Amino acid sequence: MHWVDGNGHIIWANKAELDALGYQKEEYIGHHIEEFHADKKVIDDILNRLVNNETLKNYEAQLKCKDGSIKYVLINSNVLWDGDKFIHTRCFTRDITEIKESEKRKDEFLGTASHELKTPLTSIKAYVQLLERTLNDGDLKKANNYLNKTSIFVDKMNFLILKMLDLSKIQDGTLQCNFTEFNINTLIKNTIENMQQTINQQIVMHGKIEKNICGDPQRIEQVLTNLLSNAVKYSHDTDLIYVNLIDGDKEITISIQDFGIGIPQDKHLKIFDRFYRIYGQTKFNGFGIGLYITSEIIKRHKGKIWVESETGMGSTFYFTLPVE
Ligand code: ADP
Repeated sequence: MHWVDGNGHIIWANKAELDALGYQKEEYIGHHIEEFHADKKVIDDILNRLVNNETLKNYEAQLKCKDGSIKYVLINSNVLWDGDKFIHTRCFTRDITEIKESEKRKDEFLGTASHELKTPLTSIKAYVQLLERTLNDGDLKKANNYLNKTSIFVDKMNFLILKMLDLSKIQDGTLQCNFTEFNINTLIKNTIENMQQTINQQIVMHGKIEKNICGDPQRIEQVLTNLLSNAVKYSHDTDLIYVNLIDGDKEITISIQDFGIGIPQDKHLKIFDRFYRIYGQTKFNGFGIGLYITSEIIKRHKGKIWVESETGMGSTFYFTLPVE
């Protein structure tokens, strides 16, 4: 919250506002409010409306922080008058940067998702045309090869669509886990074996979990596949991926370690957000929902998930599942 006098100078601001924007008192109070607005037209309009005795409700603006970043805010403000005398404005600013960024990511997601679906579809179309031609020529061996290729791209599309369906199930609260007792050791081994056939890196498994676990084996397989395919995707130029199994009394811990591009410290929590992708990594395909779905599945199992990583030093994703 801040107050501005009739000349547009800030005469008071509370600690929350100073902290949010990163200024010391003397860097903010006494200065013209215009200095802190990203768009001059907007602050001119705000001041004009207030002088004309208008009450502003949820007026959107952008404020400049000390570190150079911009915060999106909603402004609720009016003027304290003494008769005709303008005493000062009373302005509440609410930070909506997170909401704005999430909306932006959602818009971007629509573009990326259509693109991601179109890529395998284009390949399918091309292979079907080749298939038609080779069948007309009677070359069954070639036709079989094209059919296999088509099938791979159909699987890819299917995988993407299932991810999108999971996302909408999480949204409307209908993502279900069917709990049963299962051997997680075997599940991990099988998942690694399946994946190993399609990748260049070598996946090495360490450790063993002796006891059975209660959970949804299909969903846990999905978690492993998501984490392993990310490990593969973001560590293209390296040879090894480790999967570690730790058998504990109360919980089991599984980690997937790669030696790829890594993740900066300040993004360790954000990457689990819906649609979040690290800026500059858009050259990798994907649309930022895999880790969100993964963390929701782990949540439903009452487990934990986190990452340890540094830029350029690879990443280790951990998740735990309770034994009981
Ligand atoms: P995506 O489909 O973009 O891979 P995810 O939700 O699986 O979406 O991951 C979110 C973001 O987290 C990725 O876009 C990437 O920036 C980062 N990320 C995930 N796994 C790794 C990893 N093993 N190494 C480096 N970055 C990763």
